Amino acid sequence: MAALTAALCDIESVSGDESRLADAVEAALSGREHLEVLRDGDAVVARTRLGRAERVVLAGHIDTVPLAATPNLPTWVTGDGQEAELHGRGTVDMKGGVAVQLALAASLTAPNRDVTYVFYDGEEVESERNGLRRISGTHPDWLAGDFAVLLEPTAGAVEGGCNGTIRVEVETSGVAAHSARAWMGHNAIHEASTLLGRLTAYEPLQVEVDGLVYRESLNAVRIAGGVAGNVIPDRCVVTVNYRFAPNKSPADAEAHLRELFTGYPVTVTDAAGGARPGLDQPLALAFVAMVGGEPLPKYGWTDVARFSEIGVPAVNYGPGDPLLAHSDDERVPLTQVRECLERLRGWLSGA
Ligand SMILES: [Zn+2]
Repeated sequence: MAALTAALCDIESVSGDESRLADAVEAALSGREHLEVLRDGDAVVARTRLGRAERVVLAGHIDTVPLAATPNLPTWVTGDGQEAELHGRGTVDMKGGVAVQLALAASLTAPNRDVTYVFYDGEEVESERNGLRRISGTHPDWLAGDFAVLLEPTAGAVEGGCNGTIRVEVETSGVAAHSARAWMGHNAIHEASTLLGRLTAYEPLQVEVDGLVYRESLNAVRIAGGVAGNVIPDRCVVTVNYRFAPNKSPADAEAHLRELFTGYPVTVTDAAGGARPGLDQPLALAFVAMVGGEPLPKYGWTDVARFSEIGVPAVNYGPGDPLLAHSDDERVPLTQVRECLERLRGWLSGA
């Protein structure tokens, strides 16, 4: 696993430049009798077709963020035995997980459930370039399944569901005037203090969904206004980001914000629903029991929500400390990669 993870990392694949790695993954899996191998752009999908009662999807992105200023590739190992860690771009996010997928795809010739392995491009960039999003449009059947595991780094814990996110622009208006005769105007920036006051006073909820507690947040993330150094501004725009628990739809979240900002025009600029953890389903419960430990909620928005959108309950579970993702000293304990492989192998090989 150490050599495989290192080899995957050493094929540099910053978003937009995944072809070489996608070719390597495709070459490694095609020609294996137990797999059907499919390709869409720089995404590779391999699946068994054994006619099992259930199908599990194991998915991971093959792109990474750019290298550190002092290039952190090729990879290198420090420590040995149980202490060994693989350093370099992609080791945590998320080629340790991709190595697990690839090893399982190659070696599990007769899994107890049908398995679809998804290796996709464009996750670390804007949503329009996301390979999983593309496939859900071009070949939704490739993603079909009863349960999905995204092998994003969670340090071996199961993280279920995720919060949704919505961004709105709230506008205050005033009357422009020369600042020497300010009483002739009405200051839109001062007016914004009313909005900021509502945000400051707001107490975010903690919401329990399917047994996990999701912590919401509501924040101003940008403010814009002002015309010149001698003009009373007639317009100010506060951009607000609301991270909402997965029991609310984007429409619910929007209604909540419109109510909070009553009296001011609200424009939605983008929104994405969250995902329920789905930990009430038998397959998900069996998975959690196999991995052990308490499942945790995910606060950030992840591709788990894309599976949720197409009706496939999904969780994150993979090797590597998520706090080290994208960092200059990205590194994964190789024991975590092996442990993830062994647990998934056990889950997919048992009776
Ligand atoms: Zn990732």
